[in-house]
Amino acid sequence: MHIPPGCEERLRHLMKVFLAENQKLNLSAFRTPEQCWTGNVLDSLAAVEYMTQNPQRRANRWLDLGTGGGFPLLPLAICLPGAHHTGLDATRKKIDAVQRIVHALNLQNITLLCERTEILGRNTEHRAQYDAVTARAVAPLHTLLEYAAPFLRIGGCLLAWKSTHIEQELQDSLLARAELSCHLVQKHEYELADGFGRRQILVFEKMAKTPERFPRAVGEAKKKPVM
Ligand code: SAH
Repeated sequence: MHIPPGCEERLRHLMKVFLAENQKLNLSAFRTPEQCWTGNVLDSLAAVEYMTQNPQRRANRWLDLGTGGGFPLLPLAICLPGAHHTGLDATRKKIDAVQRIVHALNLQNITLLCERTEILGRNTEHRAQYDAVTARAVAPLHTLLEYAAPFLRIGGCLLAWKSTHIEQELQDSLLARAELSCHLVQKHEYELADGFGRRQILVFEKMAKTPERFPRAVGEAKKKPVM
């Protein structure tokens, strides 16, 4: 994975601070520096690679939905310093941990929010405001599309980190894609070292305004997915 010039030192610092938090809080299963570097930091940078190869998709306002311990949020904020990055998670202790990491690294281009996507997606300060929404390990595609689409401006993109074997999940997302006017525009495949193997970012472009009925009430997207 290509590391943008001038970013490696800050990414290594991020990893150290993150691993110290992770010892206290169990934010990620990747506990060794090697696992964390490849599985969290380099994996997050696949979105930077995608944006470099597709400059027409350049995004200024990013939202990382279900950021957890801060991935892909933190590497993206370091490597795309000209953009603003919002991290959203429903779990307070995770948002607090990410806030401490942001502080330790003195990152100025991050806002953190502790809320459910289904609630924030109705807030006019956030609805239809983002150029790019990212999500890694948050929900199956049908649910994720309902969470993400309300936040995107028309023409904005959802970047969903997925394994390469997800034909069934893609099939199950067809109705959600239609209802939410999100078209799959690209499968950005990449390879990670150290046994992590092939992965992909699925890129969905929002083609039209999200119907007012989305997102449905908290828990509905997961319990009764659009499919
Ligand atoms: N993106 C991180 C964390 C993945 S774990 C990573 O890849 O390491 C999934 C996270 O999504 C959890 O922290 C959980 O709290 C959050 N989450 C799941 N559904 C959510 C929702 N509807 N609203 C807000 N956060 C949610």
